[in-house]
Amino acid sequence: MSTSPRYRAAARMIAAIGVVSLAAACAGAGTGGTGGTGGTAGGETGGYPGQNITFVVPFSAGGPTDTVTRMIAEPMAAKLGGKVVVQNVEGAGGTVGAGEVARAEPDGYTVLMHHIGMSTAPALYQNLGYQPLESFEMVGLVTEVPMTIIARKDFAPATLQDLVTHVKANADKVTLANAGIGAASHLCGLLFQTATGVKVQEVPYEGTGPALTDLVGGQVDFMCDQTTNTSGQISAGEVKAYAVTTPERVKSLPDLPTTAEAGLPALEVSVWHGLYVPKGTPQDVVQKLSEALKTALADQKVVDQMAKLGTAPVPAEDATPQAHRTKLEEQLGTWAKVIADAGIKAS
Ligand code: ASP
Repeated sequence: MSTSPRYRAAARMIAAIGVVSLAAACAGAGTGGTGGTGGTAGGETGGYPGQNITFVVPFSAGGPTDTVTRMIAEPMAAKLGGKVVVQNVEGAGGTVGAGEVARAEPDGYTVLMHHIGMSTAPALYQNLGYQPLESFEMVGLVTEVPMTIIARKDFAPATLQDLVTHVKANADKVTLANAGIGAASHLCGLLFQTATGVKVQEVPYEGTGPALTDLVGGQVDFMCDQTTNTSGQISAGEVKAYAVTTPERVKSLPDLPTTAEAGLPALEVSVWHGLYVPKGTPQDVVQKLSEALKTALADQKVVDQMAKLGTAPVPAEDATPQAHRTKLEEQLGTWAKVIADAGIKAS
């Protein structure tokens, strides 16, 4: 497998900027606005934050990673007593944005929201330019999100078993969207292809926000994506949904069978998210960010928003640097093996 020219170009693109602030939080305004530069010094944590904090999302605006980031940005900004700017730095399965944060000043003003892709990239990319455990300080885990297998509305297969049969008979024609090598959608697609023994044509995007738009528009056939992106379209009947990739059904999508129920138990994956800052960021700043994360995850509005989208915040004890590091260490080992067995390389 090789990267597309689009990904080799891998141009860093800032697709959308939103600013959330204490002022917005107090006014009850939503996340994702624009403008609002200029820092707010002080707050309950003394000198930090004295300027805007940028949350880097390594995928497109409007996709699931972006959605979760914007959910927690406002309550975190309120707790920190500062402003948070959300910036999308997409490309190469999330590795462009992650690399940018790894190289940023370790001062707590550049924070990365990443997902399971942090643990897959080292096995996939030869020249990654960062090492997950060495280049970052972990702030804490955020949430773990089920994936769904969905298709364009008029795609012929009606069930997951039909999909497998159809893909086997039409492997050269069927297209599978993903968010680039190492993205969650890529991994899920990889598990699908391994489980069925069929190789289909993959179509990479810079995030599953635009991939979903193309799926709804009928430009690609099927994909896997987090419920934080697909719930709305599934409920509205704008896409065909086959299964959820977790052992249990998702409460907000009760009619959707699990992959095990639908006959493909080997396809089990969920997408964990965590916050990172560059290695060398002062420990008291990491701690302040972790405390703010805990506060955000306990916010009833965040809990409700996540529940509607098929997920939940992690327990408070997991929103910590140590729990995050333990998870990352374990996941690096797991995915290195899956990827080596599948013989996949991005470059
Ligand atoms: N869901 C995407 C993925 O496949 C990432 C995103 O667009 O947020 O990893």
